[in-house]
Formats: sequence, structure tokens, C-alpha cells
Amino acid sequence: MIVFNLSCSQGHAFEGWFKDARAFGAQRKARKVSCPSCGDTAVTKVPAGARISRGRARAVDEATAAGARAQALRDAVAELHAKVAASCEDVGPRFAEEARKIHYGEAEERGIYGEATLSDAKELADEGVPVLPLPKLPETDA
Ligand SMILES: [Zn+2]
Repeated sequence: MIVFNLSCSQGHAFEGWFKDARAFGAQRKARKVSCPSCGDTAVTKVPAGARISRGRARAVDEATAAGARAQALRDAVAELHAKVAASCEDVGPRFAEEARKIHYGEAEERGIYGEATLSDAKELADEGVPVLPLPKLPETDA
């Protein structure tokens, strides 16, 4: 068994016992490692001795801040997706076609979203059709 100093995305420090480093990796990926204080499964391994060394403690703070920023970004993107889904029509792969129709007055003016290739988006932009890329929701385990 080995012991790891762990930290959740809220910055709670705790220890976890594992058969080996590989077992920790597998359990973390399966979200079976959770923070005893808040239940968060976004757990990162803290280098041994981090809590007694000032220099390393700072590194941990930075890692925690990066985790919090990543979470804030995920939340913002998720919120954006929800807003777009609530106010716009999903036209899926017909996006480029519909965007053109709306732009040239052949279809009802409305907010739409869907899938477009990079070249579709570029062509639309060249034609003066306003198109905004919607960031994909990042994988939570990334
Ligand atoms: Zn926690």
C-alpha cells in the first residue's frame, strides 16, 4: 500500500491509501476517489511533503487555482450551451444552409445553432453571414 497526499478542486487536502500508483489512477478515472470534506471527485495528487514545504505549498495553491479556473470555464461553457439551446433552434447539420437562407431572407429570421465545418464557417463569414463558434463542453476528465 502507498499513501498519497490528495487535493480536491476546492483545495481540501486529504490522504488516500492505494495498492499502487496505477490503482490510484484507475480509481481516480472511475471517480471512486472523492474528497471527504465535500465529495468532489476532481482529485489531484499533491507532491509528498507539500504541506510542510512553503515552496511546494505554493505550487499546490497554483494547481488548485488552475483547477478552479477550469471548473469556472466548464460552468461558463455549460451555461452558454443552455442559453443557446433555450433561445435558438437546433438545425443540426443543416446549419450552413439555414444560416444562408436567413441571411438572404429566404427563411424566417431567428437564432439557430448546429454543426458546421471550419470551411462552412469560413464561407459564411466571407459572405457576410454572422456566425459565432460555440465552444464544445470540455470532457470533465480532461
Ligand atoms: Zn473537497
